[in-house]
Amino acid sequence: MANRKEKTFRFIIIGGGIAGVTCVEQLSSQIPSADVALITASPHIKTVTNYRQVSKTLEEFDVEEQASSVLEEKFPNLTVIHSAVKSLHTRSHSLETTDGRVFGYEKLCICGGGRPKLLTQENPYVLGIRDTDSAQELQKRLSKAKRIVVVGNGGIALELVYEVEGCEVIWAVKDKAIGNTFFDAGAAQFLIPSLEAAKPEKDTPCKRPRYTTEEPAPGGSHTFTADRNARRQGSSSTEAGSALGPDWHEGIVLQGSEQGTRRVSLEYQCEVEKIFTSEELLNSPPQTLGHENVGSWPVYIKLTNGKTFGCDFVVSATGVVPNTEPFLHGNNFALADDGGLQVDDHMMTSEPDVYAAGDVCTACWEHSPMWQQMRLWTQARQMGWYAGRCMAAQVLSEPIELDFCFELFSHITKFFNYKVVLLGKFNGQGLGSDHELLVRCTKGLEYVKVVLSGGRMVGAVLIGETDLEETFENLILNEMDLTPYGEELLNPNIDIEDYFD
Ligand code: FAD
Repeated sequence: MANRKEKTFRFIIIGGGIAGVTCVEQLSSQIPSADVALITASPHIKTVTNYRQVSKTLEEFDVEEQASSVLEEKFPNLTVIHSAVKSLHTRSHSLETTDGRVFGYEKLCICGGGRPKLLTQENPYVLGIRDTDSAQELQKRLSKAKRIVVVGNGGIALELVYEVEGCEVIWAVKDKAIGNTFFDAGAAQFLIPSLEAAKPEKDTPCKRPRYTTEEPAPGGSHTFTADRNARRQGSSSTEAGSALGPDWHEGIVLQGSEQGTRRVSLEYQCEVEKIFTSEELLNSPPQTLGHENVGSWPVYIKLTNGKTFGCDFVVSATGVVPNTEPFLHGNNFALADDGGLQVDDHMMTSEPDVYAAGDVCTACWEHSPMWQQMRLWTQARQMGWYAGRCMAAQVLSEPIELDFCFELFSHITKFFNYKVVLLGKFNGQGLGSDHELLVRCTKGLEYVKVVLSGGRMVGAVLIGETDLEETFENLILNEMDLTPYGEELLNPNIDIEDYFD
């Protein structure tokens, strides 16, 4: 293998998603003379634009899909190789791509992302959403659908059930409340009426990119369009594309075959027991079906609450698993319980000279008490950026400390058209019964929840335009004893910003 090396690069980064591209940008700006290669299976790369630091730890940005040539023009020492890594040989510091080429590296960073945790493999009636191609497949199938079943309770399921119109949606969640990954039952209760109401008209254009199928102009930045008829050329749906991110549904019309707005029915505390085709159902005992007519739907799904639903297709939105498979064989990577490549506080895996960042890795350093890993866009950027800095620091023999962004978990997103800010241990994660909650809620307007432990604020959920994020972030970081303020902390008549100035 060593003799077949086409070229040895100082740095190779695998993956053209946010983690990989940010890592490349960081490395290339810190050591412009270094030979860097980006190997990616997807035809486009994802770049962060309009980055905005909202507060000490909160950040917002847009994401653009771009031609890789844009990155190569910016960094002359960068080579982008469009192929997938088939195997990795950490002992010889080399890897092989699916087009049969072998490259050597001095330092490697794996940013291969995740893949959908599908309910079942290779069932044509079960769809996962991960990348542009799978989102378009969803759109195509939805346009002919009368009823779909969505299984899962994370961010993707939340956004999907809110966006789909003209098609009945049965939403099966394993928890007692919706959005369990992000919210408690109170916040879920606050959001539920939005599912029943019509979607507000969009009066401002979406400031985030639309994911399109159009090939970018050579060397140019990608234009994002909502053109349903556009087609991406030269890309195959079997390629491992980058994960979508915020507003992934903005550029695609999630319209079923019927008229009318949203129709969502919720099935709580249940999982999938079995998925049948209509033929399989015909051969099964009559009680399997319940009230559905055999043969009227292409697929049936039996839930553990005993109900069976026929539908046009099932969307499996049950999370992602780290995409480690191509890198493991013959190597000795330590894997975390969730299947991610274990990384230490310098983003190093257990294999020498191999780093990892983004969805593919699991942060195994001793976390700050207010931080936890969640496979989110922001953390992919932060990890990619920090991995790049760590790789450069090692080569330059410079010391480097864990970045401040890992001090406090913070995330801004939008659910059901509400701004949502999550801070610290927003759901009391890991605190057991050692915490209390303060909640303020104005129906249809805002939901504010504060998690206190030992009199100190350790987390918060802010839904709506609360304008409290910066103050609460400071209160969490300062570890101030808030006992004297009691419930006044959430008194809407007190300007809390002035209060703590
Ligand atoms: P990815 O973006 O998945 O990139 C992985 C890259 O590795 C790809 O370019 C792929 O082609 C490449 N690759 C994979 N295998 C190989 C190989 N063998 N050889 C070479 N290249 C390879 N996060 C949020 O914060 N907010 C949201 O609202 C949000 N919504 C989401 C909606 C959807 C539908 C999905 C699927 C995810 C969403 N996420 C969201 C999560 C977010 O998109 C991911 O956490 C983030 O994109 C991970 O970035 P990454 O760079 O680690 O991986």
